[in-house]
Amino acid sequence: MPELAPYAVTAANSRGRQHPDGEPSQRSHRSEFQRDRDRIVHSTAFRRLEYKTQVFVNHEGDLFRTRLTHSLEVAQIARGTARALQLNEDLAEAISLAHDLGHTPFGHAGQDALNDCMRQDGGFEHNLQSLRTVDLLEERYAAFDGLNLCFETREGIIKHCSPENARQLGDLGERFLSRAQPSLEAQICNLADEIAYNNHDVDDGLRSGLISLEQLQDVEVFARHIAAVRRAHPGLGGRRLIHETIRRLINTLVCDLIETSAGNIARQAPASLAEARLGPPLVAFSAEAFAEQRQLKRFLRTQLYQHYQVLRMASKARRIIGDLFAAFTGEPRLLPPQYQITGDGDQARRVADYIAGMTDRYAIREHRRLFAVDQG
Ligand code: MG
Repeated sequence: MPELAPYAVTAANSRGRQHPDGEPSQRSHRSEFQRDRDRIVHSTAFRRLEYKTQVFVNHEGDLFRTRLTHSLEVAQIARGTARALQLNEDLAEAISLAHDLGHTPFGHAGQDALNDCMRQDGGFEHNLQSLRTVDLLEERYAAFDGLNLCFETREGIIKHCSPENARQLGDLGERFLSRAQPSLEAQICNLADEIAYNNHDVDDGLRSGLISLEQLQDVEVFARHIAAVRRAHPGLGGRRLIHETIRRLINTLVCDLIETSAGNIARQAPASLAEARLGPPLVAFSAEAFAEQRQLKRFLRTQLYQHYQVLRMASKARRIIGDLFAAFTGEPRLLPPQYQITGDGDQARRVADYIAGMTDRYAIREHRRLFAVDQG
């Protein structure tokens, strides 16, 4: 790893882990944040990402992004950006790989449905569920629950948070109340997430046939890049034309992110991690790139995410999640024993944990097992 900037997160300025763990002599070959990354990759929640929807439900096609391939793309973009800015690449990778661990099955439709179900019981928010997954739900250590990740990795998972939730998060929620920023590595992951999903949703949208190249002509940044590809490669068509265009879109955005952020950092000149947390976010797109991204997002929202075929799947997802939640909270004995609360515990929250942990296909199967009379 190249030498880190003074405002990068390091093991030396880290706020550390919640539980004392391990003998330093056993782990001298890995940095603290490599250890975090490795713990995330070995977790059960990480493996489940393979079968969770990004936009298209897992069984709709083998080539669409899942939460797993999305997370890998985010990690790749975040690592490259962190390295270019002399920030901690291992931390950026760890946050990226963990950022979607708390997602429900069926993408945003699933999250909205579970949030509706939990309205009387504190709501459901996938960021907080990702944190709950790494802090509590993973069962891998003898001495404590969760993965015992470093403060900065956990902080990076919480992209947004209401003041009410922030107050319950203790030291992790402080920055939302004092309006401080997360580490620059966490800021990178937030924008790497956007770069990844905007571009892969264009790719998946075209692959599915729900959006077309003609429609995308209305999106200025796409029209500009595809015109450049057509000029450079006259007669090119099909998948290669799409991939050449998307490749350029991603590269342009990543370069813009690195150059704009480097400029912001140079202007602000933070002398330490603590200083980098004060003031405005330093990792950002230029105003032009930001405006173009907004236009692309608007296009995806109206043309893809609200396409009737996507909405049909979302409506089915809402029904499945609503049915499961009602059945389990109405009769907790239907739950696997480890999710049944005896005594005063929060049964609704445990039902939400169970449902949020499901993959798309597991949720569909569980729904069938509970509601189809000819299945057991
Ligand atoms: Mg994401």
